[in-house]
Amino acid sequence: MEIIQIDDTTWRIEDSGVRFFLLSGTQKALLIDSGMQVHNAREIAESLVSLPIELLNTHGDIDHVGSNREFDRFYMNPAEASNYYHTQKQTGTMVPVSDGDKIDLGERELEIITLPGHTPGSIAVLDRKNRVLISGDPIQDGSIFMFGIQREMHAYLLSLEKLERYLPYFDTIYPSHGSFPVKPDLIPLLQEGAKQILAGNLSGDTAEFHGTKIKVYDIGAAKFLCDQ
Ligand SMILES: [Zn+2]
Repeated sequence: MEIIQIDDTTWRIEDSGVRFFLLSGTQKALLIDSGMQVHNAREIAESLVSLPIELLNTHGDIDHVGSNREFDRFYMNPAEASNYYHTQKQTGTMVPVSDGDKIDLGERELEIITLPGHTPGSIAVLDRKNRVLISGDPIQDGSIFMFGIQREMHAYLLSLEKLERYLPYFDTIYPSHGSFPVKPDLIPLLQEGAKQILAGNLSGDTAEFHGTKIKVYDIGAAKFLCDQ
């Protein structure tokens, strides 16, 4: 685990291949995801800021909810409830957020953008003031998991297309995996890759992930891990 300060009011915490974020405003601070191996994200956040701390999860996958039990309540898209409570067997009270919702940290307003596809309730967080998009898993240059029952490539592609109208509002993307940071010009590359996969134009390599047979499409800009 490594804590890296990005600017006066933003930190990233690197946790064994996944990263999560702490953003502070003048009134409160927000953890965006709570780690994988780490189970003391609240304690980490409290060591960095002296403000009330709330938690938001970009989605319910197990590598993003490691410290959720430290919080009574957490913001999440309710489309993620089945993944979070049923598949991942997590607990706690979800405070539902949906597309366009705002969370004001005090002189720092964050906007929720729903990006279904990787999971049904994946969300990104737009920090217009700092011109940053915190993207979760859908926008990154590492491995994008698209295999298994909850994931849907058509929805993913629609989400990328939807992001086009937000391009005037951010210059930098903070993803949960892969390189940090990435640039918005990654988005059209992912879009093209998703289109090619859906059109059946890429052959891909067969592989196995924890006993599941998958297909890996390396589009250069990222890898898509898909059903065979
Ligand atoms: Zn992830």
